[in-house]
Amino acid sequence: MLACPMPADESCRLQALEEMAVLDTPAEHYLDTLVQLTQDLSRVQTVLISLIDQDRQWFKARVGLDASETRRDISFCGHAILSTDPLVVPDARQDERFADNPLVLGPPFIRFYAGQPLHAANGQPIGTLCMLDPQPRTLRDSEMAHFQQLATLAEGYLQLRALLQRNQALRQAVDREQRRALLDSLTQLWNRGALALLHPREAAMAQERQQRLGVIYADLDHFKSINDRFGHDAGDAVLCESARRLRAALRPDDLLVRQGGEEFVALLRVQDAAELQRIAERMRVAIGGKPFALDSGPLPVTLSLGCALARPQETLDAGLKRADGALYRAKHGGRDRVEFTAID
Ligand code: GH3
Ligand code: MG
Ligand code: MG
Repeated sequence: MLACPMPADESCRLQALEEMAVLDTPAEHYLDTLVQLTQDLSRVQTVLISLIDQDRQWFKARVGLDASETRRDISFCGHAILSTDPLVVPDARQDERFADNPLVLGPPFIRFYAGQPLHAANGQPIGTLCMLDPQPRTLRDSEMAHFQQLATLAEGYLQLRALLQRNQALRQAVDREQRRALLDSLTQLWNRGALALLHPREAAMAQERQQRLGVIYADLDHFKSINDRFGHDAGDAVLCESARRLRAALRPDDLLVRQGGEEFVALLRVQDAAELQRIAERMRVAIGGKPFALDSGPLPVTLSLGCALARPQETLDAGLKRADGALYRAKHGGRDRVEFTAID
C-alpha cells in the first residue's frame, strides 16, 4: 500500500482549511441533500464530503457509512487532493496503491472509488466529494460529468459558508453605526479610520497564525492630470473603478482602504515577502493592464506601489511610513511599478 503522500505546501493547505472553520461542525441540510442526491444518481453505496485534516479525514456529510472519520494515511481522498483531476479507482484490489489498504481488505471493503477535489477560495485543496462501493465499476462520461457538477456545488457552498462566517466575525468586531463612519462614501472601501481600528486585529491574527503582516501603499500615477483633462467627475469615476479592480485583485480576507485622495492601502497576512510582492504585482496589473472606459473614450491609468513587511510589534504608522518610502522610490523610478522596502 502507498501511504498517502503530503502536498508540497501542506501548511498553507491546512491553514486554508482551518480558516474555513468547518471541521467538527454539525451536519448541514444542504450538504446532506447533496450527498444523498449523488448517491441516488450514481447508485453507489457511500457518498462522502471528506475534509483532509492533518492526520485524519473527517466527513462533513456522509451517506452509507457510519464512521465520522478515518486515518489520513490510509485514506483514498488524501491521494485525490494531490491533483485537480478526479481520482477514479475502478477496482482497488487491482490497484497497487490500494490493494492491501485496510479499507479494502476490511470494512467498508472499498473496490470502487471516485473522488473530486474541493478547493478553498484561495485554490488550496481541502477535501473531496467522493463515492465508494464494494463492487468494482466504471463511470460513463455522463455519470462523471454529473459527479463533477455536484462537486462544484459542494465546493461553492463550502466557500460561501466560509465567506459568510468571516463577514459575521467582522460584523461582530465593528457595529453598524461605527461601520457607517468608517466607510469611504465614494468608493465604498474602508477609510483610514477603519485601517487604524482594524490593524490591531489583523496584526494579532498574523501573529497567532505565524504569518507576516504586509502593508501595500498604492498611489495612482498622474491622477491630477486626469482631473485637469477630463474633469473632477471623470476623476471620481476612475477612483471608483480603481477601487473595484483592486478589490478584485485581492483575496477576500485582505483589507483594502482608501487612505485619501488617490491613495489606497492594503493590509494583508502573508507567508513571506514573495507572496506580498506577487499580490502587489497583481494590483499593479489590475489597474495598468486594461484602459479605463471613460465617457470620453478609453484612458490608460497606472499605479505605483510600495510594500513593507511589518516588523514584530511595529505600529501601523511606522509600517505605513516604510511602505510609503518604497512608494516614493517607485514614483521616482518611473511609476507603474512595485518597490519593496530595502530591509525587513
Ligand atoms: P503622482 O503620480 O506623483 O502621484 O501624481 P498625482 O497627480 O497622482 O498626485 P498629486 O498628489 O499631485 O495629485 C493628486 C490629485 O488627486 C489632486 C487632487 O485634486 C485629486 N483628488 C484627491 N481626492 C480626489 C477625489 O475625491 N476626487 C477627484 N476627482 N480628485 C481627487
Ligand atoms: Mg498621492
Ligand atoms: Mg498620485
